[in-house]
Amino acid sequence: MVVIDAAFDGGNIHCVDASNPADIRLEIARDRQSDFYQWFSFRVCAEAGDPIKLVITNAGGAAYPKGWENYRPVMSVDGKTWARIPAHYDGGTLTVDMTMPSPRVHLAYFAPYTLVQHDALISSAIATGRFGYQNLGQTVDGRAMDYLRYGSGNIPVWLIARQHPGESMAEWWMEGAFEMLSDAADPISAALADIATLHIIPNMNPDGSFRGHLRTNAVGVNLNRVWDTPDPERAPEVFHVRQKMEETGVDLCLDVHGDEALPYNFIAGFEGIPGITEAQLDGLNGYKALLAQLTPDFQTKIGYPATPPGKANLSMATNYIAHRFGAVAMTLEMPFKATTDTPNPQTGWSPPRCKHLARHCLHALLLQLTGTNIPS
Ligand SMILES: [Zn+2]
Repeated sequence: MVVIDAAFDGGNIHCVDASNPADIRLEIARDRQSDFYQWFSFRVCAEAGDPIKLVITNAGGAAYPKGWENYRPVMSVDGKTWARIPAHYDGGTLTVDMTMPSPRVHLAYFAPYTLVQHDALISSAIATGRFGYQNLGQTVDGRAMDYLRYGSGNIPVWLIARQHPGESMAEWWMEGAFEMLSDAADPISAALADIATLHIIPNMNPDGSFRGHLRTNAVGVNLNRVWDTPDPERAPEVFHVRQKMEETGVDLCLDVHGDEALPYNFIAGFEGIPGITEAQLDGLNGYKALLAQLTPDFQTKIGYPATPPGKANLSMATNYIAHRFGAVAMTLEMPFKATTDTPNPQTGWSPPRCKHLARHCLHALLLQLTGTNIPS
């Protein structure tokens, strides 16, 4: 007998029929009060050694069907290490043919980052004594909007992640950033603390994360489309963070995301905002160049096309923040797949690699803020 369940922190799957192990029919559930879906995370229980076939029948109707092309899900036995497993996408369904390596396995769209992990991240950061902490206010479901402050320098820098909760790589990136900033022996962290103050929201959308959503909060709001007019009832997450930004100011902001389709790390900017300055554009292009020099996992050739002048959508965080504060605001996108330039067949893009990228992002930040250029 095969049993499928997703009734846990961040879980998402609807089991339609598991009576035939050779044709288990599954559907990904939509975000609440929304049509978006693509994130899945569920457990399969069956006899070790049994062959099973899992068919996600509504894959073709997901938010980003191109995300299934050349895509392989992640699987874990111990809930800690995640390996890629083969899958086949036929334009409508995503099929996994596998032999159970143990009596229970966890399959997911990308290595999950649960709210339990989030709470542990916040607690351990506070325990280091190196961070200020504030609960900025409540989410729709009543959760805390956790905010951490690092350093005491004059330059206000914001790091926010996981507006889109299914992009769990964004919080793995945050974990890497916290490990570096928590390390009293790290010279980059020490220098950053002198020159800047980092304002950090490790998870912009805890409700959506817990509910197993792809893109929205508890009432179906895509948080990255309400920055110009955040309703305190329907999008309190953005409302509270925006208020804090007004208090601190913003010189530079990194908003961390994942992209379903593109197998690259890249940064999207704010080229289309009204009143854009040369200094802002230089800051954007300078940061991207620094990061590309620091790590082969980042590149500047592939990404979203720049928005034409004056056509920016100011409801998106990066555009809104660049426009409101005259800041260098950037959207960092990481892949769900393997990076084309630096693939890893066993893991694809993975939590440890998200964490390495975060370290390189902080190094590039220091170089940017000190005006240091590194020779190419
Ligand atoms: Zn996103």
